[in-house]
Amino acid sequence: MKKVVILGASGSIGLQTLEVIREHKDEFEIIGLAVKENVSILKNLAEEFKPPYLAIYNPQIETPSFTYNPQIFFGREGIEILADLEESDLIVIAISGIEAIYPTKRAILKNKKIALATKEVIVMGGKFLKGWLKNSNSEIIPIDSEHSAIFQLLLNRKKEVEKIILTASGGPFFGKEEKYIEEANLEEVLNHPRWKMGKKTTIDSANLVNKALEIIEAHYLFDLPYEKIDVLIHPQSIIHGIVEFVDGSFMAYLSPTNMKFAIQYALFYPKRINFKWEELDLSKIKLEFYPIDDKMFPIIKYLYEAVKKGDIYPAILAISDEILVSYFLKKKIKFSQIVPLIIKIMENWKGKTEIECEEDLFNLMDWTEKEVIKLLRRYSE
Ligand code: MN
Repeated sequence: MKKVVILGASGSIGLQTLEVIREHKDEFEIIGLAVKENVSILKNLAEEFKPPYLAIYNPQIETPSFTYNPQIFFGREGIEILADLEESDLIVIAISGIEAIYPTKRAILKNKKIALATKEVIVMGGKFLKGWLKNSNSEIIPIDSEHSAIFQLLLNRKKEVEKIILTASGGPFFGKEEKYIEEANLEEVLNHPRWKMGKKTTIDSANLVNKALEIIEAHYLFDLPYEKIDVLIHPQSIIHGIVEFVDGSFMAYLSPTNMKFAIQYALFYPKRINFKWEELDLSKIKLEFYPIDDKMFPIIKYLYEAVKKGDIYPAILAISDEILVSYFLKKKIKFSQIVPLIIKIMENWKGKTEIECEEDLFNLMDWTEKEVIKLLRRYSE
């Protein structure tokens, strides 16, 4: 049995991972579950799977009582302890946001196999990940659907790649007039036409910031220059990734629009198992592709320009987006302000152009946070 730890167990990917594991109970044993603060979900899951180790990120939350005696850890350190357990075989990292970088580092240094769903870790810590991985036997299997697709297409074929194409559904505003984005409220933004995802990713998908993050994610994950990474709108979300090879031929990865395919692949990797979550009847679907409309979704074009100036800009994009999405969720800003503010913040950065050490990253987080506050204050005056 594979001994599995899930960090971010109460989130969208965490819960879907547990659904996959329920289907394959004789193959996996859950030995650790960590949540940010949703202890009622944690309690239910713990009673069902009886993992010996639990972690709760927010130490202010009242700890529930359990019918058995798990060891419970708290805070960042608590999450890191679960990433670090001697006996685990696979760590699923599905914590939302940059915070996931801490347990990811611990798991890599501990030579763990990691199924990684948190794209922000790769986006911001890509450079460090490479360094950590160099001295480790750890392996990262992406859970993001597009990256899982490319990962599966690329196995042992990396030298022959001309370029890769990530697909984007286009989100709820694709094909609509610009005014819909201008006036969009939270409910409209969260109404994603294809994927069932967590709030942050759903919001990021509506302005294609998610796709910008995924371009950066692919750059680090597959060690490809940005010129070799393309994006296409594909509203049906059946093709998740495409690779063009040097001989001009293409291979595409298709699956139903269901994250459990990528999750199951990551859990069983390198094995592909005989279990289908859904059937796909290709005779009933039309597959369409469109270029990105840069006027409607300016962030993609902006990202390609910004990366030419240095590796710090993608990190600023990710950090400012994380802060701005939290402001949008608290109704402090409009959805349509997110992308212009990200661009403004990237333009306002006048410091070094590369992230050289981990401290640079944390300084950048501080600076970005202050910059967001400064810009918003200026707007409200
Ligand atoms: Mn994705």
